[in-house]
Amino acid sequence: MESFVYSPLPHKIIFGRGSTRQLPQCLRALGFRRPLVLSTPYQIEQARQITEILKPHVEDASIFSEATMHTPLGITEKALRFCQDKESDVLISIGGGSTTGLGKAISFRKDLYHIAIPTTYAGSEVTPILGETVDRIKTTQTNISILPKTVIYDVDLTLTLPLPMSLTSIINALAHGVEALYAPNVNPIVSLMAIEGVRALARGAVQLLDDPDSISARSTCQYGAWLCGTCLGSVGMSLHHKLCHTLGGSFNLPHAETHTIVLPHALAYNAPKVPKAMEALASALPTSNGDALHGLNSLLNRLGVPRSLGSIGFREDDIDKAADISVSKSYPNPRDIDRDLIREVIRRAWAGEDARADL
Ligand code: NAD
Repeated sequence: MESFVYSPLPHKIIFGRGSTRQLPQCLRALGFRRPLVLSTPYQIEQARQITEILKPHVEDASIFSEATMHTPLGITEKALRFCQDKESDVLISIGGGSTTGLGKAISFRKDLYHIAIPTTYAGSEVTPILGETVDRIKTTQTNISILPKTVIYDVDLTLTLPLPMSLTSIINALAHGVEALYAPNVNPIVSLMAIEGVRALARGAVQLLDDPDSISARSTCQYGAWLCGTCLGSVGMSLHHKLCHTLGGSFNLPHAETHTIVLPHALAYNAPKVPKAMEALASALPTSNGDALHGLNSLLNRLGVPRSLGSIGFREDDIDKAADISVSKSYPNPRDIDRDLIREVIRRAWAGEDARADL
């Protein structure tokens, strides 16, 4: 065995169909009486469902439904004032990474207990990481007090996520597991979670194709998202996440789609330096025939998810600029960062090619 450090995340996970019904009991046990439920405008109905469950048990339950992509500071400040006026004593975020981000931003500033109810597979609910945008510039900070204290995974709330969004969100989650396998501070528990998470996500995604309303498939995906999200929250990420951060932040590309398109190419770049991770990954991906890159290409093609950055609004003329930004800051990566090869990674992703092991 190699040396390692393992530090589990201090939070409680409640997993299971219908588990949001445990909220009143949860709040009672913690002594909270004035919950503030957070959502985007598109999920206000789900936020209302939560307040309906809570109302008979609390003094007041209010909703702030203006959560927005990239957690802009202006919205956080508005939500903080609302929270102050309502004298809220606990936050309940219901939604994807954007809503969880707002919950984190408020809870971090006001030291409020945060219960996250994720409705996508992005994984933010199990990380101590907060990304916020001020004047269109996104900065990220990590602090253990950002981590939501309780997470409730209730599969019923994911049924309304349209299939195309579900599939890219699943690959977003899978990317956390992939990069965890070769993280500089990986440990045996995180490796186990990554492999199990990737296996569950790949299996669940293929099942969803046949039946987007399948409780069993969506539950398998949620299980995988929890595991891979926990990997993201536990160990450092490398090239793939840095590239997606650059492309999302500097070129305003959609989060989950960008992850989906870039992942196979970033993996192809690192593959020569991480043979053990590639072997483990191949064992978790269906139809890999012992080749992780082949397994990932064929999974993505089978799911019919977007494969080209060009198709989501990234321009060929911006490839050089993106390459320059991507190599401007150093970070741990298994393979040294070569500007021209990174340019080729971005070019292949822009063109929508299958990933190849010739980088
Ligand atoms: P999102 O939260 O932006 O959601 C996209 C849209 O889908 C929103 O309009 C949302 O209301 C809607 N939606 C979500 N779940 C739904 C459901 N079940 N039914 C119907 N509509 C639903 O998308 P996301 O991909 O979950 O999150 C992306 C954001 O999260 C990015 O800003 C990203 O940077 C951040 N993120 C942060 C971390 C972290 O650890 N800090 C991790 C992953 C993602």
